[in-house]
Amino acid sequence: NNKVMIIGAGGVGNVVTHKCAQQAETFAEIILASRTEEKCKAIAESVKKNTGVTIRTAQVDADNVPELTTLLNNEKPFLVINVALPYQDLTIMDACLAAGVHYMDTANYEPLDTAKFEYKWQWAYQDKFKNAGLTALLGSGFDPGATNVFTAYLAKHYFDEIHTLDIIDVNGGDHGYPFATNFNPEINIREVSAECRHWENGEFVTTPPMSKKASFTCPDGVGTYNIYRMYHEELESLSLHYPSLKRAQFWMSFSDNYLKHLEVLENVGMTGIEEVEYEGQKIVPIQFLAKLLPDPSTLGPRTKGKTCIGTVVQGVKAGKPKIMYCYQICDHESCYREVQSQAISYTTGVPAMIGAKLMFEQQWLEPGVFNIEQFDPDPFMEAMNACGLPWKVIELDGFDLEGQTDS
Ligand code: NDP
Repeated sequence: NNKVMIIGAGGVGNVVTHKCAQQAETFAEIILASRTEEKCKAIAESVKKNTGVTIRTAQVDADNVPELTTLLNNEKPFLVINVALPYQDLTIMDACLAAGVHYMDTANYEPLDTAKFEYKWQWAYQDKFKNAGLTALLGSGFDPGATNVFTAYLAKHYFDEIHTLDIIDVNGGDHGYPFATNFNPEINIREVSAECRHWENGEFVTTPPMSKKASFTCPDGVGTYNIYRMYHEELESLSLHYPSLKRAQFWMSFSDNYLKHLEVLENVGMTGIEEVEYEGQKIVPIQFLAKLLPDPSTLGPRTKGKTCIGTVVQGVKAGKPKIMYCYQICDHESCYREVQSQAISYTTGVPAMIGAKLMFEQQWLEPGVFNIEQFDPDPFMEAMNACGLPWKVIELDGFDLEGQTDS
């Protein structure tokens, strides 16, 4: 069976569909299903134009398990690539179990009413997937995704034991809007306005959002950026799977302009996730805000500049301390030329295709629920080089974000 079903026709769905179509020897049949079928059709047209490959489309409400199960039973794909929203993770996992289909996603399940970013709901499916002989691969995007694999790769090839991990996500791109988010605005704003948690000495330590700031100079001329410590879901699985880690932190770059807008929006209540009543109608402020903001999938033609995302790992090899940095630099404009998308969707969609490819090739296929760092990182790293996300590993003489002052 070499049929794949992609669910979600947004920015990431566009890229993963293009990338699967480019690998026709692995993905002989592709179906793109989403809530709004016109969006699937527009992507299908673009895929046809760019790659010559014909894909099929379908309409589905992924919140509805029976509807989704019927679609899966009719189509019988080998794997579902879930690039809808994190709210749909559990319903899609349920439908995959009901129809006997493998599962993969790029973001952990989120309940609508609380911003949690925790794996516990999906990890609870471990026995169900194991007993069904099915694989659920969690978090095969860039971060989570490639960053977990970078960590696993460094740990495997350069260290006997790893002690600290800093994941640094810099987006040096400029889309020219006063304020826009690079992926789904609702998820993006929930993430950046959440309290910061980082792993230290065996537990998560909570600090106020954006309270720790540092300056980071990217390699290869990408530039120097302000980065802020924040919580990101891969810290949970990596701290579990690498118990030798004494500290694990995630950092993301934000411009002063982005932070100014976010602060105002938060202060006036526009980022709230609880319903409010307005003229007899119930609205969720952040959902209304998302409606007003530019659709991330339209940022492609306007975005210039580069992303630089990587992991700095410190540890020991043969008794000696060592610092290694693995990173990937991606250019917004070249992504646009290839698949008509900006680099954020591109850097998510390519690893999603790669995770799927490794499952199709049976390289990453074991019954149960797995985070991506639990599989052998080598074939993934090799595929990144071959599929548009070349990376580098360098040794650093020193590394210190700790000496920086709080903002
Ligand atoms: P978009 O908002 O652009 O796209 C989401 C798509 O899912 C839309 O087409 C939407 O349909 C569809 N969808 C939403 N609800 C349903 C439903 N109930 N049934 C069927 N389809 C539905 O988001 P992105 O493409 O930016 O992000 C996709 C996913 O990727 C998200 O989970 C995001 O968190 C994740 N992500 C992961 C990253 C990583 O590095 N790991 C980075 C960036 C994103 P409609 O068109 O009708 O609204």
